[in-house]
Amino acid sequence: MRTRFQESFGMDHRREAAGRLASSVVALLALAGATEAFAQASTGALSSTVQQYQADVAWLADDAREGRGMQSEGLVESGEWLIDQFRAIGLEPAGEDGYRDPFVAQVMFPDPDQPDNPHAGERRPVEAFNVVGRIEAGAKQRLEGVIVVGAHYDHLGMGGEGSLEAGVVAIHNGADDNASGTAALLTVARDLVSRSDELRRDVWFVAFSLEEKGLLGSSTFVREPTGGLEVEEVYAMLNMDMVGRLTDDKLQVLGGGSAEEWDDIVAPLCEEARLECKIGGDGFGSSDQSSFFAAGVPVLHFFTGTHSEYHKSSDDADLINAEGGVRVATLVSDVAVATANRAEPLTYVEAKERQSQRMAFKVTLGIVPDYAGPSDGSPGLLLSGVRPEGPGGQAGLERGDIIVGMGDAEIATIEDYMKVLSTTEPGSTMPVTVVRNGERVVLEVSFEE
Ligand SMILES: [Zn+2]
Repeated sequence: MRTRFQESFGMDHRREAAGRLASSVVALLALAGATEAFAQASTGALSSTVQQYQADVAWLADDAREGRGMQSEGLVESGEWLIDQFRAIGLEPAGEDGYRDPFVAQVMFPDPDQPDNPHAGERRPVEAFNVVGRIEAGAKQRLEGVIVVGAHYDHLGMGGEGSLEAGVVAIHNGADDNASGTAALLTVARDLVSRSDELRRDVWFVAFSLEEKGLLGSSTFVREPTGGLEVEEVYAMLNMDMVGRLTDDKLQVLGGGSAEEWDDIVAPLCEEARLECKIGGDGFGSSDQSSFFAAGVPVLHFFTGTHSEYHKSSDDADLINAEGGVRVATLVSDVAVATANRAEPLTYVEAKERQSQRMAFKVTLGIVPDYAGPSDGSPGLLLSGVRPEGPGGQAGLERGDIIVGMGDAEIATIEDYMKVLSTTEPGSTMPVTVVRNGERVVLEVSFEE
């Protein structure tokens, strides 16, 4: 079926060209009486992609990677392996140092004597790195902005905080979470490198680290993108986290409500891919797309759903549906091309206030905290997003501000902030002190009735 969507995004051209090429190849082969051989060859190509995918998942989710936990050799080794893959695929390096985007995040370490008390821990700096590569748009008529395709490559290591198996010390291989998405990221990169002439926008590939510790790699990238990129230039972000368990062709496309146009763009591509996509939801979710959405970028998170091995040591490679992972990656490739070639802007849709916030407190400030905290480790609550119509936005709070005081209280951590919110009455006003570009600014916030 021919849709308006295909006309307006120039998809027909590619499909026709591909069709012409395929049919002339078939004609030649038919002349040689080799149509059957051709059919076998194309199945072979598909299965080699699936085999490659499976091998990539198996490598990342091997016990030798130690569950890719924070500060483990296995995580460093995985990042270095990804650098080699990015290079072999032919992506251009786009990190701070080659493909590498090193960062230091402040991470809360629980007190071993009282592991359940979130206030008893200690914040310590942790080093990690994202892996960043890029495909330059090869089409003649280029468009402004870039597409970011991402997946996190870290996981829970030996368990502990974040594991759903309390007290179990065992390698958490994270085959679905998120070797599956990382392998899919490589699959998309291989595909788009071969299609770079079709692209009107550059496509960036980012393998994020320390997602499991609070989206630390992605929030760092959004705050300080590499290669001279500004987050405002990101036209859309496509995230793959847990895409290895495709069942009955059912795929969740979360964040489908983060731009008005997503449904029209994604639904026909899902249909072509014979995937039953559930498209919807705002851009806040429990993965790296949240960091981009908070900064005003339309996002999608591809997700094959949760399961009983989620965040357990049993999330292993032999449970991965490799063919399904490749099918998701192929869809993401198509969405990336459609998005890279769309001339009109996407209409970003603000999230409605999150219900959990409403339930916990009588008031809301309308901000999104950056869990990584200020990059120099100084105390305060760093804002990765501000809803313009919320009380904070109305008072003049901006993304990047660091809240250090509210009323009489000093704000050093997110817990301090929550404590103030929990005792604040609707209709009250309060001075909020922020550090902005190194200077203290006091803003008067009026909380809604
Ligand atoms: Zn996870």
